[in-house]
Parts: sequence; structure tokens; C-alpha cells
Amino acid sequence: MPNLLTEPIAKLRKIIHVDMDAFFAAVEQRDHSELQGQPAIVGGDPAGRGVVATCSYEARRFGIHSAMTAARARSLCPQAIFLRPRMEAYRKASRQVMEILQKYTPLVEPLSLDEAFLDVTVATADGILAVQIAREIRWCIQQETGLTASAGVSYNKLLAKLASDWRKPNGLFVIPPEKGLDFLSPLPVGKLHGVGPATVRKLSTLGIHTVLDLRNAERETLIAQFGKTGLWFYEIARGIDKRPVQPSRQRKSVGAERTFPQNINDPQIMLTHLQEMASQISARLITIGLAGRTISIKVRFSDFETITRAYTHVQAVWRKEDLIACLPDLLGKALPVESQPSIRLLGVSVSGMLRPEESATNTGQMDLLEDILVKSHGVRR
Ligand SMILES: [Mg+2]
Repeated sequence: MPNLLTEPIAKLRKIIHVDMDAFFAAVEQRDHSELQGQPAIVGGDPAGRGVVATCSYEARRFGIHSAMTAARARSLCPQAIFLRPRMEAYRKASRQVMEILQKYTPLVEPLSLDEAFLDVTVATADGILAVQIAREIRWCIQQETGLTASAGVSYNKLLAKLASDWRKPNGLFVIPPEKGLDFLSPLPVGKLHGVGPATVRKLSTLGIHTVLDLRNAERETLIAQFGKTGLWFYEIARGIDKRPVQPSRQRKSVGAERTFPQNINDPQIMLTHLQEMASQISARLITIGLAGRTISIKVRFSDFETITRAYTHVQAVWRKEDLIACLPDLLGKALPVESQPSIRLLGVSVSGMLRPEESATNTGQMDLLEDILVKSHGVRR
């Protein structure tokens, strides 16, 4: 198949994805020389119900990975060294890394403590290559933090992220525009952004296993099967990803909504949906390092009348339990007393944002926060 440009040359961007290698574990190995060369695992207690947040490459050789229970990790590698997370140390290293990235462009979008996208299109306008910038960034990170990062360079986020993963750890890989399609073709669809295990199963029932299979699928078929997401699949199979690099801005709220295929009448089922959304929001708040004081619910009735009810905590909250606690009360206030409710949409959101450490230090909950961070970090992968 001929190499094709998937985006017009004039609009081509230069995107770098920087991803620290085994970040939490690498910080521990840097700070405790006796851990170097050892299977080190940062996460929860293997005697309890904790999970692995990050493990060193030595531990990965035993089949240990993020999100696995710590107990299972210990059974795979009894000699592994288990460490409780030191979030302050990781945050400090993360700040150093993000500051280095900011020197090259203001267009830096952190995805978590240890990875970020950069749009260096402008920085490369006078002939400097994006790959030179990526090389320099990796060098600076190593000099300043003593840690290694992998980097991927390409013309959009999708490919830049795949590229950084390609030569991990301590690697650099470039996917130029004319190589994008060839790079993607043989990859299993599960490697693509937004394609989770359930989607992989559904695609495989359609005979779609690789990105090339996905590219050969009819646009209409994908849309019929997956709706709007089908259109996204159609585009990414062609190496098209127009998502901009969005520098972190102050978020005003984090929320979730669900529209139901059939109206719901049972308040208990409504509550279950609200609770599920609240847990998702909690996980997202932890990932982006925010907490909020106000919890709101939104209820849209079958006649499209929409109302919201809110509760404001004294302190910012982010834990699932705290988000969920006020839901029965809010739902009770939203539903009519006399008639049976018929609901087509429910939503939950958290606003009045604060960084969680600002409220956590007040309440001495730092340990708890670390505990939650470990769990959520595990769930993400
Ligand atoms: Mg990483």
C-alpha cells in the first residue's frame, strides 16, 4: 500500500508525548540505592487489599503490572520489595519535569503526574526539528531529576503517544507523517486511544482485529455499531486525530451525565446510576488532582423539565464516599412527592474546585489521599 499523507501538509503539527519510565518506582530507586536493580513495587499493602500503582522494570519481568492486586504481585515475586507511595516526592519530580517542558512551548498538556503532550509546531518553525527538542527534553529530565523519560514524536496525539510507548524504557521514537499509516496498520485495535476491552471484543465479532481491518471497515458500519465513537474509530484508523494539545487551565467543574434509552421510574435505580457516576467523577478528580466543595445533581424528566439540586460541603471533597453520601438527599429533593417520577437523564457534577492537598493538609488526611491515589492510579491502566 502506498504511503499516504493523512492530513494536509500545511496543517501538519509537531506533537511530542513525554512519558516518565516506571515513574513512582523510578523515584524510589533513585532515592534508595539499595533498590536499584531490584523488583520494587509502589502501591498498597500486599497483606491487605491494595493494588500495584507502579513497579520497576525488574518487577515487570515477573509479570507484575499496574492495577494488579499487591497480594497477587507478591505471589508472583515473593522477593519483591513493597513500598508505600511518597506522593510528595513524586509531585516534586513531576513539577521539575513539567517546568522543563514549559521551556519549549506554553502548549503543554499534562495527562497525569508523569506524562504530557507538547505542541512544538511553532518552536520548530525556524528549522529546529521536533526530534531534537525531544532529545534535549529527555536529556534535561535526566540531568535535573536523575530519572529517565521516553518520548514519541509525530503529527498528532494518537501517534505521538503510541511512539513514546514503542521504545520504552528510556527510548525515543519518531513517526513521520508519511509513515503514520504503515505504523498503525499491524497494531491490534486495543492499542488505540478510546478502544477498551469491551470494544475490542465487539470489534472482533465483526472480524476487526488490527487497525488495518478497522481501516477497511465501512464508515457506515462503524457508525451504525458504535455511533459517534464509530466515526472516531474511522478517523484514527486513518491516522487522523485533530484533538488539540490543551494546556491545563483551571477547571470549573467535573461531571458526568447519562441519558437513558427508556425512562426510569424507580428511585433506587436512579440512585445506583448517580452513585456510579459519582465514583467515576471521584476517580477523575484524583487523576487531575482536584477536589470540589459543591456536589450537584441534574434531573431531566420525561417532559424535558430539568432541575438541579446542590449540596455544598464545608471542605473540598474528592472521595467516592463523600460524593455519594449526599446523593439520596439530593435525589429526594429533586423528585416529586405526589406523582411517580419518570426520568430521561441524570447527571452529577462537582464544582467549587480546590487542589485536594489544600483541603487534605487541613484535615490531616494526606495518608488517606495517598491511599486513594494509589488505587486510582492502578485503575487507570
Ligand atoms: Mg509513565
